Amino acid sequence: TARRDDSVEGLLAGLVQGDRYALARAITLVESTNPRHRVQAQQLLSKILERESSLASQQSTTLASAAPSLDDKPASGIDHTMNSTSHDTTTSKAKSDSTEQLEPALRLGRSFRIGLSGPPGVGKSTFIEAFGMYLVSKGHRVSVLAVDPSSSRTGGSILGDKTRMTELSRNTMAYVRPSPSRGTLGGVARNTTEAITLCEAAGYDICLVETVGVGQSETMVADIVDMFVLLVPPAGGDELQGMKKGIMELSDLVIVNKSDGALVDSARYAQIEYTSALKFVKAITSYWKAKVIRVSSMGGPEGGIEQAWNTMKEYFHIMESSGELQRKRGHQRKILMWRQVSSELMDLLHEDDQVRTMSTELEDKVLKNEVMSGAAAHQIVERFMKGMSTS
Ligand code: GDP
Repeated sequence: TARRDDSVEGLLAGLVQGDRYALARAITLVESTNPRHRVQAQQLLSKILERESSLASQQSTTLASAAPSLDDKPASGIDHTMNSTSHDTTTSKAKSDSTEQLEPALRLGRSFRIGLSGPPGVGKSTFIEAFGMYLVSKGHRVSVLAVDPSSSRTGGSILGDKTRMTELSRNTMAYVRPSPSRGTLGGVARNTTEAITLCEAAGYDICLVETVGVGQSETMVADIVDMFVLLVPPAGGDELQGMKKGIMELSDLVIVNKSDGALVDSARYAQIEYTSALKFVKAITSYWKAKVIRVSSMGGPEGGIEQAWNTMKEYFHIMESSGELQRKRGHQRKILMWRQVSSELMDLLHEDDQVRTMSTELEDKVLKNEVMSGAAAHQIVERFMKGMSTS
């Protein structure tokens, strides 16, 4: 019935009503490299930012009065969680959970961004399916974004090729972005951050960002989320030896998955191993010490899913109430800004014909060790700047 309106205004209107098709098109827009689309994407994002600041300044009044609500859809069971203060009379078993526990953040129009990483086969999609369905049952609206580092280089995809999270994908309270972000790491960081912003504007109060534990994608994801969760298999010893220390340093929570059946003992063992390994890892924030828990993603809420959520909520509340979360996000935005500056400068540099000609020559000389790398780099930058100042 609703006409498809791809103007910036149309997308914004669709977004704030929680229309997932508008959300899907908006994410496609921010991922586009077409310069005209980039301009539109920036317009859309600025409007969202404006809207959020005005919502934040109206904190004392209810959010619902400022946000066009989903009142026309209550029968479907959709509850725009960010508006939930306005219609507390509607029934949702778990409403109390989201409103009580996450209310301080939601009053600020803020959501909870959770990064999830782990090696292929550890059970990321199984966990997210179970965890996402659990959150939905608690009255949350959940979005799942994937960051796939393999696709930019090989064109293939570790995360995207199989049918994943089928139940969650079909749930009206969830939005699972089917195709992973592609491109350079810097580009993906920006696209994913923008996609998170769009999901939040569409009323998703929990955003899961999934990535495979390979390459540098974990660091990138850790830089754009509130909490970084690492999934590990139920084996200790060798496995742990191979685990990069770097990724442990990023983790706010380590989940030993597949803690069921014959694997429970090795899961326990892994839990002990990771717990002691974490003692030697520097904490990211003085407000939180990384924890290690065991979960069976196939065991329902009692399988540890509920405990996982309780731990994450505990983290959220500590970070939120201390002001650390706001500081962290501010710092992340600053990092992202400078990343973006470098990547835009690099794009300009590579587009420069003079630089291109010159750098082919210089690369050759550097290969043959006729010119020092540093000196060559300096020449390239000088040439680029000269070109800029005369253009
Ligand atoms: P991903 O590659 O990390 O997304 O892993 P998948 O979610 O595709 O899971 C890999 C395999 O592990 C699948 O065969 C799952 O059925 C299995 N698996 C996932 N979670 C669990 C669990 O909690 N217990 C057991 N026993 N198997 C699991």
